[in-house]
Amino acid sequence: MEKHILSKSTYIKGEQCLKQLYLHKKRAFLRDRMPAERLAIFRRGTHVGIYAQELFPGGIDAGPKHPSQYKKAVEKTALLIQEGQQIIYEAGFQAHKTLILLDILVKNGEAWDAYEVKSSKKLSETYYKDAALQYYILKEAGMKINSFSLIHINDQYIREDNIDINKLFVITDVSKEVEKRYNEVEKKIDSELNILEATHSPKIAIGLHCFKPYTCDFVGHCWKGIEKPSVFDIPAFSLETQFEYYKRQSSLNELLEEPGLSTAQRNQIEVQLSGKEKINLTTESKAILENIIANPKDYIYLKIISFTPALPLYSNTKAYQSLRFALSWLSLGESNENMEFYISSATSNPDLEIEQRLTTLLKDKKAIIYSANQPITNGIELQQTLKDSSYYHPLMKDYSNKSLSKALGIKPPWKGIESDIVAAQYYDEIVRGHKDSKSKKEAIESYLSRELNLLNLYINKLTSTLK
Ligand code: SF4
Repeated sequence: MEKHILSKSTYIKGEQCLKQLYLHKKRAFLRDRMPAERLAIFRRGTHVGIYAQELFPGGIDAGPKHPSQYKKAVEKTALLIQEGQQIIYEAGFQAHKTLILLDILVKNGEAWDAYEVKSSKKLSETYYKDAALQYYILKEAGMKINSFSLIHINDQYIREDNIDINKLFVITDVSKEVEKRYNEVEKKIDSELNILEATHSPKIAIGLHCFKPYTCDFVGHCWKGIEKPSVFDIPAFSLETQFEYYKRQSSLNELLEEPGLSTAQRNQIEVQLSGKEKINLTTESKAILENIIANPKDYIYLKIISFTPALPLYSNTKAYQSLRFALSWLSLGESNENMEFYISSATSNPDLEIEQRLTTLLKDKKAIIYSANQPITNGIELQQTLKDSSYYHPLMKDYSNKSLSKALGIKPPWKGIESDIVAAQYYDEIVRGHKDSKSKKEAIESYLSRELNLLNLYINKLTSTLK
């Protein structure tokens, strides 16, 4: 069997941008370092596929034990079919120099039903493309396919004592859709294989496709010619608007003349042009800060972190429900030694524990928080002050706490955690009994502490203009 050139993931890369496919296969060394946030998102859905196998119990896994053993997966699948196996997981097939692994294959009479599991809450165009490729390869490899279905998570299902797997997953028959795309897939495979025979990468300009449907791995390489600062450093413009101005080749100075700019857009452009931070408090922000200065004892700094397990881990929760699991707090004016932490042990729904603690904590205090993904009684969210441009710094490319940290000069080390997404991933691993849970917990504490420092610094920065 000749070695495959394309796989499902490389085919999808080519669908997004042929240059991405080329660079991935031929110039992999140009790839960006994978941010920890993206790795965490990738890992989140890993367990869903295995769990969904229970929909069709009793199958045999043909999947490779290591990525280099794909050929073995194809051979094992062929053998299992020959031996009369009725249900196969991670079934491998190859045709047209393209290899696929199908999540679940089930014998149905003389033909087979094919199932691909998606760890998401709904189906997207990318999943249809991906299913169309798998269907095409299955047929080209000589399989008689009765139906092709996508399985995804039902985020409306509420777990009772145990998970009811038939309610947790939604099975959608997409046979007609993938059949319709059959010839299209053939052409796309041909064009991707052709591109890979070239000696140079295709000339493709940057565009929205660099981020949609996924952030490309080669942004660092393709975007290095973009002057700094540029319209891409103005987050108050949507990505679509940034590209409109980019195509018009408008400079930041010219953008200042654009009619209808919002205050945030104007401020951010001015900050980028001057290279200096700017504090320009709105009347609302000013009133909040004046109250904090006048009554510091009424406030605490608060940080809460949530995780969103793909499977409903606890009774009365849904898949992908945001569950708060950790918090830290510090009274205004107190030193860091007085910081308090709480990380739930997760033996039961951590969100309920956090809710109880918050109720006690905020009985007679107001919370200063950077951003809360659930409304907090008596909470003041500071992220809004960045969005309305009360504060802006040239190092800020968005409104994230990570970006604000850079602007305020808070530097690593934070034991590997740079954002809530990564902290949530660490917690997810603790819940699953990771062997290094102790150091993961320490890393979360270190991150919580950094976040309270960030709040303190930010409040000092904003209030400095009022004193
Ligand atoms: S950064 Fe954009 S243009 Fe470059 S390879 Fe990726 S998607 Fe294509």
